[in-house]
Amino acid sequence: MRILVTGGAGFLGSHLVDRLMELDHDVLCLDNYYTGTKRNLSHWLGHPRLELIRHDITEPIRLEVDQVYHLACPASPVHYQFNSIKTVKTNVLGTLNMLGLAKRVRARFLLASTSEVYGDPEVHPQTEDYRGNVNCTGIRSCYDEGKRMAETLTYDYHRAHGLDVRVVRIFNTYGPRMLPNDGRVVSNFIVQALRGQALTIYGDGSQTRSFCYVSDLIEGLLRLMASNHTEPVNIGNPREYTILELAQAIQQRINPGAELEFKPLPQDDPRQRQPDIARARDWLGWEPTVPLDEGLSRTIDYFRERLDAA
Ligand code: NAD
Ligand code: UDP
Repeated sequence: MRILVTGGAGFLGSHLVDRLMELDHDVLCLDNYYTGTKRNLSHWLGHPRLELIRHDITEPIRLEVDQVYHLACPASPVHYQFNSIKTVKTNVLGTLNMLGLAKRVRARFLLASTSEVYGDPEVHPQTEDYRGNVNCTGIRSCYDEGKRMAETLTYDYHRAHGLDVRVVRIFNTYGPRMLPNDGRVVSNFIVQALRGQALTIYGDGSQTRSFCYVSDLIEGLLRLMASNHTEPVNIGNPREYTILELAQAIQQRINPGAELEFKPLPQDDPRQRQPDIARARDWLGWEPTVPLDEGLSRTIDYFRERLDAA
């Protein structure tokens, strides 16, 4: 098949491109390199089945493809808040453009949505039918509401034009190829510990997240795309940790002497998050296989090598 991956030079996108290339597909990667880099795909550069296209999805483009994995959007709060209006444009105009592209060529369309559509959740764990508790005027709104609108558009194209759609709600995912300055918690703590700096805990560290290793996540995306399920599906690891527990786990592995520094909690930071993955289990036969211990080891090895080379 010929498959378009928007955001294909980013963290998740590049791992998805790896799997699609290994499955012998023709892959088109569309990216404006805001938070992605060609380095993530350097091992495929020059391969006849991979085409890299530098393009900003807020502008229309015509491509002939069979499937679209729509991932383009900065995912780290630091990067999506840097230019919040651009984040809205990417989610709304960008998703409209990619839906239009898919509609024209009748391609199957998978939207990478997020657990952020649940906001600061009052239902725990989060099931897909929970409608969320999202602030529409805060610093996270450009992303949270942007993704909610991207879901709305996706289902409107499905209803109005019969577009064949899939929606995955991704929960915190980590692994090799996150940027050292990505700003998300796993990469921050690992890079800080490796550099002998204090680990910055926002708030008192009692807020929780559930961390999914990247290979598990990508397997979930492939299974959802291959399935017949148009309703949203959570993909994430249901094992929940406090941020303090995560900091201590990374501290112990890399540098038990590293300090923990407590900083103010950013506005609207969700207090708890854990996916209910019954749909993924029942519909896709999917569940995570890589425990945090092992995923952290692989991620630490990656950053150690990357920082040594720098
Ligand atoms: P990332 O920032 O590494 O990747 C995003 C990619 O999109 C980058 O390559 C970036 O350059 C590209 N991009 C951004 N704006 C663009 C634009 N206007 N035009 C073209 N390309 C653009 O982030 P990621 O972690 O790989 O996330 C990928 C997708 O998965 C995002 O849609 C994100 O919202 C979603 N997601 C990720 C997580 C996670 O934990 N990693 C959680 C929930 C949802
Ligand atoms: N966080 C932290 N220190 C950091 C970066 C993040 O304590 O250096 C916290 C952040 O406040 C949040 C959690 O870790 O409670 C996850 O943050 P991240 O930015 O990775 O993802 P998100 O908040 O979007 O789930």
